[in-house]
Amino acid sequence: MRHAKIVCTLGPASATPEMVEALIVAGMDCARLNFSHGDHETHRKTTKMVREAAAKLRKSVAILSDLTGPKIRVGRFKNDKIILEQDAEFTLTVRKILGNDKEVSVNYPDFAKDLREGMDVLLDDGLLRLRTLRIEGDDVICRVEVGGELSNNKGINIPGTPLSTPSLTAKDREDLDFAVGELKTDYLALSFVRTADDVKQAQHLAHGTPVIAKIEKPEAIDNLAAIADAADAVMIARGDLGVEVGSERVPVIQKKIIREVNKRNKIVITATQMLDSMIRNPRPTRAEAADVANAVIDGSDALMLSAETASGRYPLESVRMMDAIIREVESEVISETPDRVKPETQISDLGFPNAAAGAAALLSSALPIKAIVTFTRDGRTGNLLSSYRPRVPIIAITTEPSVANTLAVNWGVVPYVDIPPTELSEALRMATSLLVREKFCKKGDAFVLVLGWPPSAATNTVKLHQI
Ligand code: PEP
Repeated sequence: MRHAKIVCTLGPASATPEMVEALIVAGMDCARLNFSHGDHETHRKTTKMVREAAAKLRKSVAILSDLTGPKIRVGRFKNDKIILEQDAEFTLTVRKILGNDKEVSVNYPDFAKDLREGMDVLLDDGLLRLRTLRIEGDDVICRVEVGGELSNNKGINIPGTPLSTPSLTAKDREDLDFAVGELKTDYLALSFVRTADDVKQAQHLAHGTPVIAKIEKPEAIDNLAAIADAADAVMIARGDLGVEVGSERVPVIQKKIIREVNKRNKIVITATQMLDSMIRNPRPTRAEAADVANAVIDGSDALMLSAETASGRYPLESVRMMDAIIREVESEVISETPDRVKPETQISDLGFPNAAAGAAALLSSALPIKAIVTFTRDGRTGNLLSSYRPRVPIIAITTEPSVANTLAVNWGVVPYVDIPPTELSEALRMATSLLVREKFCKKGDAFVLVLGWPPSAATNTVKLHQI
């Protein structure tokens, strides 16, 4: 049993039905579609592959559609790439031109308005650095401080500069409608969130599809509490975050974000460069293995692979390695960590469901319990149980496949789709036969059942049962 979940970004290295199936078998719980790459047709095909493979393997797998957001990028070059020479002058312009070694266009119309003399402009994930010398109309003239190769469509970051871009671009709105309306995506991720209002705006358009706020801007860190309150889940997008705030600040910010999101019983995903060297090598560095382990110990619900599975040489090996590291750390650390006990205030705030979930988690550590089973209509009880981090699997049975898919990302939850029981004795029978069939339990083992009874009631029942 692995508790922390694995999100895999799908791309050219993983876009065949065989590979998608193999990734699920290796441990993929959630497939991420990156809308910064690929067109709608590509995402439609990938979604179909994931849905078909998940159905074949009888496993709930979530689909996460990650919207591009207001990412500023350079345009295209006449020869696809240039070399930026140290100390040379180079112009970034909002004029629509084909780039050369003197100038290139930028996809953000207010670029020249938002920039000031003396600002740093980072290119290609911060690998190259320019310094703004002067603004002349639509042109921002810079000096190259750190040069190197610059190719088509590379990203631009201007650390510390609040930009006047809307949080959802026209492309994001189109992608959102497509992902929600056509793909029936299980999660939407919103890039470059700055305020809670950015999240609320996307939620309004998402019609109930959970929205994950990606934390990658300094403004988002300043507004973290409000964003964590508003969002359905949070992703620590360490790639852009590292460029915006400096890599040295990322580890502590990661811990702070995880703590804030854990407190709110919401999902938190740690993302980017977790097994980066496995893009090229079949084994990770020891530092990467430690990073994966530490993200689990910090309290992440899920860990994400990006280029490792989307375009790397070893997508399957990356998932297997992540799975192995998580299992290892959980076998050592979780069993020694006392279950989290919520403050009194939260229990009284949330009433019976929270108390029932907390009690089930405590029982599972005090007694030789093999599993917690819950019948959950909208996934809330499954989510709540997960937030207590019990050491046994949380079997969440729901009638809705979409609810089962969203629960696939929750720490420790194993979702199943089934019809709801009409009698309490039937609930026990269903739970018993599932636990035995799926080898969570054998005769003589005990489990905890958590549910709302009668079925119309909120969660109010905790039942211990021995098979
Ligand atoms: C990141 O920046 O870490 C991230 C997850 O976002 P993207 O991959 O969209 O750049």
